[in-house]
Amino acid sequence: MKQLAILGSTGSIGSSALDIVRMHPDRFQVATLTAARNIDLLAGQIQEFKPGLVSVLNKDHALDLSRKLAGDHKPDIVFGSTGFACAASHPKVDTVLLAMVGAAGLHPALAAIESGKQIALANKETLVMAGELVMAKAKEMNATILPVDSEHSAIYQSLMGNRRKDLKKIYLTASGGPFRTTPLAQFPKITLEDALNHPTWNMGKKITIDSATLMNKGLEIIEAVHLFDVTPKEIEVLVHPQSIVHSMVGYTDGSIMAQMGRPDMKGAIAYALSGPSRLDIGMAFPDFNRLANLTFEKPDCKKFPSLLFAYEACIQKGTMPCVMNAANEAAVAAFLEKKIGFTDIFKLIAQTMETHRCIDNPDLSSIIDADCWARETVLSLI
Ligand code: MG
Repeated sequence: MKQLAILGSTGSIGSSALDIVRMHPDRFQVATLTAARNIDLLAGQIQEFKPGLVSVLNKDHALDLSRKLAGDHKPDIVFGSTGFACAASHPKVDTVLLAMVGAAGLHPALAAIESGKQIALANKETLVMAGELVMAKAKEMNATILPVDSEHSAIYQSLMGNRRKDLKKIYLTASGGPFRTTPLAQFPKITLEDALNHPTWNMGKKITIDSATLMNKGLEIIEAVHLFDVTPKEIEVLVHPQSIVHSMVGYTDGSIMAQMGRPDMKGAIAYALSGPSRLDIGMAFPDFNRLANLTFEKPDCKKFPSLLFAYEACIQKGTMPCVMNAANEAAVAAFLEKKIGFTDIFKLIAQTMETHRCIDNPDLSSIIDADCWARETVLSLI
């Protein structure tokens, strides 16, 4: 029986993970849960899965949750950054599913690594902000990091049974988002509603905007560099609108290993929780008779400069990936509040990266400082 910590249990990844737990109660037990603000949903999850400890964003949310749990199963309730770290490093926990959104995932990720947990990593920012530091710490503590992102899960699975030194290239596939065929001239007219309408994946708001700008792919380039210890040059992004091939690995003999499936995160989540065993999660195969074709095309970096930002951040290393990520988060938040236009997201990230003085081999406090600086810079530019 695997004891799970599910951090970000009310989000789309967290809820899917709980669906998997519900299907396989003989394999998984929920030891801890965390959520930020969705107290009603969290209260329901607590009654169903009976975790020993839960954490929420702040004291008010903790009090609200405690009131809502009156008379029922009563877990320990903690809150804030320390609370999330507690949930991640809880002695009962074997595997931590880190599915919190944004930079808030970094502290609990480090807490999980420091207590030697197995980590199913869905939070991109952990590796984007502090990839060098996090991977070094994971090596030192012998903590395994299993990717939950569908692309990295695909790469991970395509590497199984092959020698790492035979790897020549990683093909990171991208759906292309809702504006793949929109001409550049129409980009200034893109609205929030247009951007939230993703063609193949059903996800949270922030990541849906990141998919529309292709920044999601940019973050994934940086993640892949750290997870698989490759150079940015070894990663090629391919737009694959059908989202059936989740990514591929090319080997020295010209062979390509690809992992395919329906565009549903459940497959990658289940593999991160139980791999190399595969669980029956009621997932159908892609219907190859109805798929007219699988196509691949080069991304348009004039429309989507996010990819160039990410390659640049990978080359500069140090605090630059963190600054790119923080600038993106702040810009996307402003776009979600309709304070800026779609193309302003790119402009704000570019301006912030240009003015940043990059620090090499940063420690955690330099990373946090760079993160704050980038957010403030974006706000001042708006
Ligand atoms: Mg992905």
